[in-house]
Amino acid sequence: MEIIKYTEEHNIFREAARRFLAKEITPYVDEWEEAGIVPRSAWQKMGGQGFLCMSVPEEYGGLGADFLYSVILTEEMTRTNHCGLAASLHSDVVVPYITAYASEELKHKYLPGCVSGDIITAVAMTEPNAGSDLASMRTTAVEDGDQVIINGQKTFISNGQNCDLLVLAAKDPSAESPHHGLNLYLVEAGTPGFEKGKKIKKVGWHSQDTSELYFTDCRVPTANRLGQKGGGFYMLMEKLQQERLVCAIGAQAAAERCLEMTIPYCQERKAFGKPISKFQHNQFTIVEMATEIKLGRAFLEKLILAHMAGENVVVDVSMAKYWTTDMAMRVADRCVQLHGGYGYCEEYPIARAWRDIRVMSIFAGTNEIMKTVAAKFMGL
Ligand SMILES: Cc1cc2nc3c(=O)[nH]c(=O)nc-3n(C[C@H](O)[C@H](O)[C@H](O)COP(=O)(O)OP(=O)(O)OC[C@H]3O[C@@H](n4cnc5c(N)ncnc54)[C@H](O)[C@@H]3O)c2cc1C
Repeated sequence: MEIIKYTEEHNIFREAARRFLAKEITPYVDEWEEAGIVPRSAWQKMGGQGFLCMSVPEEYGGLGADFLYSVILTEEMTRTNHCGLAASLHSDVVVPYITAYASEELKHKYLPGCVSGDIITAVAMTEPNAGSDLASMRTTAVEDGDQVIINGQKTFISNGQNCDLLVLAAKDPSAESPHHGLNLYLVEAGTPGFEKGKKIKKVGWHSQDTSELYFTDCRVPTANRLGQKGGGFYMLMEKLQQERLVCAIGAQAAAERCLEMTIPYCQERKAFGKPISKFQHNQFTIVEMATEIKLGRAFLEKLILAHMAGENVVVDVSMAKYWTTDMAMRVADRCVQLHGGYGYCEEYPIARAWRDIRVMSIFAGTNEIMKTVAAKFMGL
């Protein structure tokens, strides 16, 4: 059942990405998981081969490629079985804010480095007391002539240690409502008053440098504001759709990889004199997982095409984000069970996949928030 019609160029890109990742990324993943961070050189290798920010227009150093290249790369990255090198976050979530809303001068200044991997980006919305409820954010940005003064704290920021450039959400304390007072600013690492805090110890995503960030009288040019003053909330609502879609694509691909690694295991592992795949319960488990995966893929591919066509996909994206991430967790959990004790051992890739998938229902808007968004847009 083919819904997306990939071209020959797409297929060549997929093959090239798969070969590159198998040679340059996968062999180093255990080392990076141990170190708790991915070296910058890996980002530069990705960029050097054209695997970052493919959608950035050619005039800023990108390929001007369609969204299917991002889909392919997100899917192929799941084969590396790690989440440290958050290429999709950089290419398909953070950099699109710059491409869409930064001034020409800032685009020329930053985008070529984002494409080459010399500039690693992050987006900072979440605070210790404001996650789902972004409107209650406390970080302030006060515009004072040609400078803006930022004070506050962010947490759970992916690429927090490695980042060179931040898309920061902060509120204007003088605005009449939190929604109208939200702004996005580009903040460079190394700006006085911007400190990278501790790397957060997490249950999974061990090679991802998720961190706390601090701002104390941090001054950046007012020209670093993205879009119109007070337009931050609108920009987030618009760009969060692609973030959630990318999350769903990652979850779908992760579920597929889990099943891919589990079926051969079940066919080889013997108990009571026969492969465990011959027990009817295990067959039913595998068939049920394969069915959910097929349902997810059909829904997702249709949604990817609708997103590319510029349709309003808020309801379907919210549904896809919550359903695929829940489905991926169900699949990973059942796959661990089918591996028996080995499924709980670091040597077996299913163990890492299981713990890394868990967070997908929490970030990019929790799955509960996805249902509240869908309910609102369904007029309930
Ligand atoms: C590994 C990781 C990476 C992350 N990367 C980033 C990043 O790069 N940038 C960034 O800005 N943030 C990032 N986050 C933060 C993430 O987006 C937040 O954790 C998430 O939005 C939830 O916010 P919270 O943790 O404050 O939970 P809370 O908002 O406190 O929610 C707690 C629980 O209450 C539920 N809840 C809250 N409100 C409602 C409601 N109205 N109705 C029903 N249930 C509700 C939630 O669904 C959840 O189950 C990351 C988080 C993690 C763990």
